[in-house]
Amino acid sequence: MYDFTIIGGGILGMSTAMQLIEAYPDKRILLVEKENGPAHHQTGHNSGVIHAGVYYTPGSLKARFCLEGNRATKAFCDTHGIAYDNCGKLLVATNEVEMQRMQALWERTAANGLEREWLDADQLREREPNITGQGGIFVPASGIVDYRRVTAKMAEMFQNAGGEVRYTAPVTALEERSDEVVVTTDQGTFTTRHLVSCSGLMADRVVRMLGVTPEFTICPFRGEYYQLPPEHNRIVNHLIYPIPDPSMPFLGVHLTRMIDGSVTVGPNAVLAFKREGYRKRDVSFGDLAAMAGDPGIRKVLRANLKPGLHEMKNSLFKGGYLEEVRKYCPRLTRDDLRPYPAGVRAQAVAKDGKMIDDFLFVNTRRSVNVCNAPSPAATSAIPIGAHIVDKVKALVEG
Ligand SMILES: Cc1cc2nc3c(=O)[nH]c(=O)nc-3n(C[C@H](O)[C@H](O)[C@H](O)COP(=O)(O)OP(=O)(O)OC[C@H]3O[C@@H](n4cnc5c(N)ncnc54)[C@H](O)[C@@H]3O)c2cc1C
Repeated sequence: MYDFTIIGGGILGMSTAMQLIEAYPDKRILLVEKENGPAHHQTGHNSGVIHAGVYYTPGSLKARFCLEGNRATKAFCDTHGIAYDNCGKLLVATNEVEMQRMQALWERTAANGLEREWLDADQLREREPNITGQGGIFVPASGIVDYRRVTAKMAEMFQNAGGEVRYTAPVTALEERSDEVVVTTDQGTFTTRHLVSCSGLMADRVVRMLGVTPEFTICPFRGEYYQLPPEHNRIVNHLIYPIPDPSMPFLGVHLTRMIDGSVTVGPNAVLAFKREGYRKRDVSFGDLAAMAGDPGIRKVLRANLKPGLHEMKNSLFKGGYLEEVRKYCPRLTRDDLRPYPAGVRAQAVAKDGKMIDDFLFVNTRRSVNVCNAPSPAATSAIPIGAHIVDKVKALVEG
């Protein structure tokens, strides 16, 4: 019998495991992951940005955890010798509408307590000679890191403290009883006093295994990237982001300096036809049928038909994608966009057809389940892990 079991070896599962064993050093704690190592899904396929907290609704969990997580991630990297770069980020407005949206973002960043600087077109050109725009906001706290390395270090700390990790152990069934949870995996069945799930793209299916009918469904959105050729590795000095459309949940195609010195362009947001499908041709008929049968997802797709088709067109035709980035970086050409692996986001959609914006947790008597943890959840992983440990303590004591 384990005291605690965690499902999911992404950054949230590992952060929780590391902090749970710190809080309960004498307990038996197990983490199960269906892949053969950590960070195989969202955590290992993202932009690697340590977000500062520009966009999030003041007072939301996202706003709070991102601000705390920005500092905590950098402190964790300092302690453990993990490379990161405090390169800062520039949000660039390319037309009048975006200038107005930029004003709203400026106010939001104030409400979220961020240090930032307003740049006019000349100041923008001075900082970034290859970027054009009418103005910009500079946010110095944004940085970059390899979240796979952060997650691997968390796994190492958990195991060094006595925690047990089983890879290649997909959880296939759960049964919550009055005094324990029975966990069935491909590596056998065992019992645990309490359960935490951080299962990303499978969050709704894991909750369903516990006998709970979730109020949401995970909708997978693929984020496709390109990489610039090495001669463009110094094309920008900071992370360059467009001013996002506030009605859309994703941030728009950005130029991201990666911690290995390369620069990526992306990600877009295309409906994925398979939950863990990283290639355009990946299709799961089961996943598709589930999406088609879900009233919330149908409403989301209907409401976002035009931008959805636009994203799909740009996914299929490089020219459209290129135009998105040429708005602020006109130097780039078609040949500059080289293939790079995609990621798939787990976005929870409510039954009424709204994309759930904030981080979402669902508790049962013996479990805490992370049900919506899109970006900036990698940045926020340390405070989210601490929040989960608090929730677990409440279950243990209550
Ligand atoms: C394209 C893209 C760009 C992003 N950019 C950023 C960024 O720049 N900055 C940022 O902060 N965030 C970013 N994010 C968001 C961030 O990557 C995620 O929020 C974060 O990685 C979520 O971590 P997780 O542990 O919840 O999920 P995951 O990393 O997906 O981990 C979930 C794990 O659960 C396992 N699992 C699922 N079901 C089972 C089961 N039945 N049994 C056993 N194991 C199971 C999976 O195999 C997986 O390893 C981005 C995401 C994407 C997709």
